[in-house]
Amino acid sequence: MARPVVEKKYSFTERIYLYEIVKGLGLTWKHFVKNFTASLKRGPHTVPTCWQYPEDRREISPIFRGEHLLLLDEQGREKCVGCGMCARACPAKCITVKRGKVAEGEESRYAGKTYCEEFQIDLLRCIFCGFCEEACPKGAIALGKGYELARYTPGECQLTKEKMLANYRREKELGILKPPRKPVPVAGAAKEAAAKAKGADEGKAKD
Ligand code: SF4
Ligand code: SF4
Repeated sequence: MARPVVEKKYSFTERIYLYEIVKGLGLTWKHFVKNFTASLKRGPHTVPTCWQYPEDRREISPIFRGEHLLLLDEQGREKCVGCGMCARACPAKCITVKRGKVAEGEESRYAGKTYCEEFQIDLLRCIFCGFCEEACPKGAIALGKGYELARYTPGECQLTKEKMLANYRREKELGILKPPRKPVPVAGAAKEAAAKAKGADEGKAKD
């Protein structure tokens, strides 16, 4: 059933609008003064309404996925062996890897017998899904904390091996590196573990 329309009775101050306008302006000024005085304070300008970026920055989530890093091992050697698993797993097809054989005398620079001669990620196509990190059998690639990805030219959006190594060194220096990922069990190993558990259950049942 339709509700009857009730005509609202406006008071005199409501009818002339002036009081409501002054009330609205008062609220605006109250917030302006509050934010302005807070922004004059020393230290992080965490005023109620906005953060003064880039001076003030919020803490990044530990699971944030930003610009990629190419990792080094404890001896400072490149972990990547150029296998291309990351490129195969990438849904955006934005990784290009060229594998090279480690030359004699260069063993101290690389952890494996092969290495990535070229490694490039097209950040214009990357969707930051993290599949490359999950697919890497050597734990050589990770998505870091870099989120300032605005560039002037498309060429600058090509993340090279050198840039990724530099990202790793910078995040290590700042102490913001993520802990290494736990290895994901492969299908064969998972089946083996399930079979073992089943065998153990059957043994218990017989007893
Ligand atoms: S984060 Fe995803 S889209 Fe980006 S390079 Fe890695 S796999 Fe490809
Ligand atoms: S980052 Fe990992 S998956 Fe990609 S090429 Fe290097 S070792 Fe292979």
